Amino acid sequence: MNNLSRTDITGTVLEIQRWSVSDGPGSRTVIFLKGCPLHCPWCANPESQDRRVQMAIFSTRCVRCGACVRECPENVAIPAAEGAFGTDNCTGCGNCIRSCHGGARSWMGEEMTAGEVVDLVKKDMVFYRKSSGGVTFSGGEPLTHPQFLGEIINRCMDLGIHTAVETCGYFDWKAAEKTIAMLDFIMFDLKHMDEATHKRLTGVSNRLILENILKISSFGIPMVIRIPVIPGVNDDEHNIRATAVFVRDHLPQAIGIEALAYHRLGVNKYQALGIEYPLGHIEPPSDSRMAALRKLITDTGVPSITADNDYDAQLVRSRLKSTPKHLTKDGPDNAQT
Ligand code: SF4
Ligand code: SF4
Repeated sequence: MNNLSRTDITGTVLEIQRWSVSDGPGSRTVIFLKGCPLHCPWCANPESQDRRVQMAIFSTRCVRCGACVRECPENVAIPAAEGAFGTDNCTGCGNCIRSCHGGARSWMGEEMTAGEVVDLVKKDMVFYRKSSGGVTFSGGEPLTHPQFLGEIINRCMDLGIHTAVETCGYFDWKAAEKTIAMLDFIMFDLKHMDEATHKRLTGVSNRLILENILKISSFGIPMVIRIPVIPGVNDDEHNIRATAVFVRDHLPQAIGIEALAYHRLGVNKYQALGIEYPLGHIEPPSDSRMAALRKLITDTGVPSITADNDYDAQLVRSRLKSTPKHLTKDGPDNAQT
């Protein structure tokens, strides 16, 4: 495969955030890829669930200038303040977005080549070096884009950039295996240990997720397990303890568990996409509740960690590598097919 065709691999990027300090060790550029096989009702990034580029409408930013109405060749655009979803006749030409100077309409997502992504990533090399940071791939589910992701990671390795992924664990192992083998660090979500409850909450069984986490574990890549704590949904002591015991007994290279408190920061995005927010009645957990759950985790013998104080631990950066040689960058079977 020559360099030109490698550069041409494309994927749908939702957003690129620079200088994040909560998505892995050090200062990080976070690449959000679109498309997720789960449908968690608490998702803070609903715009990442659909693989396709989508139009978002922010009604509070609309000044009712009428430009979108005038520029729409199909006569279907209406001011954002009045809502703009549900028409089958929209061709996605984007005229209404280009004409909206108030920022009330925008695309969510953009097709990019791997080369374009790496060019942006390279801009912050100095910050990665100074902070022992790097690049984190998030989503959506980045491992459902194994070729695109693998190409970007391959190029990051050439540049000596540390790479990490945030994953829900639901992906095709065969398709993603080579890409995973190149990663330096993994943040893996475990939302519920009970299969039936997991399916009811997210739309899918947790069986594939647990199979995949055990396979990743055999690679020896440093890993943090994340539990999104949703009051009344998955924060019962039985589930938190079962998760911690699973980590203790089956994931020897896990640095610890990070319990993440549910928040409502994504509510405006649901409105912008015209999607109902299903958890409007749930309050974020209190600090004391989170402290009690973190103690439950440590009581099982698993460290409870947070991005603020533990991601810079030496373990995160020192790879306990046992990746099969044929899957490593230097191995004979590295080509992304
Ligand atoms: S994307 Fe084009 S067709 Fe669709 S509402 Fe906007 S201007 Fe009209
Ligand atoms: S162009 Fe933008 S600000 Fe003007 S009416 Fe349309 S959505 Fe509102």
